[in-house]
Amino acid sequence: MDQTLSPGKTLGILGGGQLGRFIAQAAKNLEWKTAALDADKNSPALQIVDVPIVGPVDDIFAARRLAQLSDIVTLEWELIALSTLEEIARIRPLFPAPSVLAKIQDRLVQKKFLDEYGFPQTPYGEALSVQGLPFPVILKRRTRGYDGKGQAQINSAADTEKALELLKAPCVWESLVSFKKEISVILARGKDGRVAIYPIAENVHKNGILQMTRAPADIPEDVALKAEKLALRIAGILGHVGVMAVEMFLLESGQLLINEIAPRVHNSGHYTLGACETSQFEQHARAVGGLPLGDCRMKAPAVMVNLLGDLWNGGKPNWTALDGIPGLKLHLYGKSEARPGRKMGHYTVVGPSAPDEWKNAGERLNALTEKSRR
Ligand code: AMP
Repeated sequence: MDQTLSPGKTLGILGGGQLGRFIAQAAKNLEWKTAALDADKNSPALQIVDVPIVGPVDDIFAARRLAQLSDIVTLEWELIALSTLEEIARIRPLFPAPSVLAKIQDRLVQKKFLDEYGFPQTPYGEALSVQGLPFPVILKRRTRGYDGKGQAQINSAADTEKALELLKAPCVWESLVSFKKEISVILARGKDGRVAIYPIAENVHKNGILQMTRAPADIPEDVALKAEKLALRIAGILGHVGVMAVEMFLLESGQLLINEIAPRVHNSGHYTLGACETSQFEQHARAVGGLPLGDCRMKAPAVMVNLLGDLWNGGKPNWTALDGIPGLKLHLYGKSEARPGRKMGHYTVVGPSAPDEWKNAGERLNALTEKSRR
């Protein structure tokens, strides 16, 4: 099977969220056609692809249809049944391969994989009951958890109710990490094993959801090099093709612990769109489409701030709060329904105003919710 896309060929995307939308936009710029599969016909990517397919991403018939009318298939969402991914891979080249996803989808399997190769991580274990948990822990569902969903901090036996709710499905526990910073390494790996790596992102989460990112991260050079090495080794061992994000905790001691691997474009890499010569989305399209990887270099420092559905509470955000900031760019994802915690869009500030925005983002978000000025 031909593993290279040329103009007029179709890139199929499993999942119709904003990540898929940005990948589709990048693919269109490369003169490829796009198709995407999602259960929601109004999802961000389905609104803009040439061939929208409506159906659950796990639905074998819908997935087969996507594969049949695509030349190469990729994904923007890793939590897709392995059997569906394997069926797609039988029909068309799928990047990343199901073997990569098999090591990542289940948090326990991912942690064991990291252990097998000696990657540093916080102590963890399979959580079968509340008894015996080494409090305080973060209890996480093994599969299907994202954006802080399917996980909770359990401090003592007094939190039993919260724990039992999570334990309705298989879980892992992790020791609570007292980190100095959270960072992520975004890299791309081509089919020939060549890699490209972006300046490291520094991330702030709130309630388990990414709130903002700045790049380059304010970390010592040796830590950055160590983080890059860890991420590159993971991608190489997995034989990953496409963009990958590796989230890490940086401890006061300078030690790095791997938090989790995302085998796809990542929210903390949104800053690359505008701040880097090649965005993570174009890079991903190039990697899976068999084109040489692009230049990851940053043109200027950047800050990215997520706009969650909470800002729409009681009406549209007060967009005037974004007036007059040099280098600011607003991205909205086309989601009609705003729910608390739902990612509706983001903005980036690229250039000399970025360091100020890193300090002022909290106030800016408050101003966006101010109703009196609407
Ligand atoms: P995750 O979905 O596993 O990336 O978790 C979301 C966020 O929750 C992380 O980015 C951290 O801010 C926090 N978190 C997750 N696991 C831990 C941990 N073991 N210790 C401390 N904070 C954590």
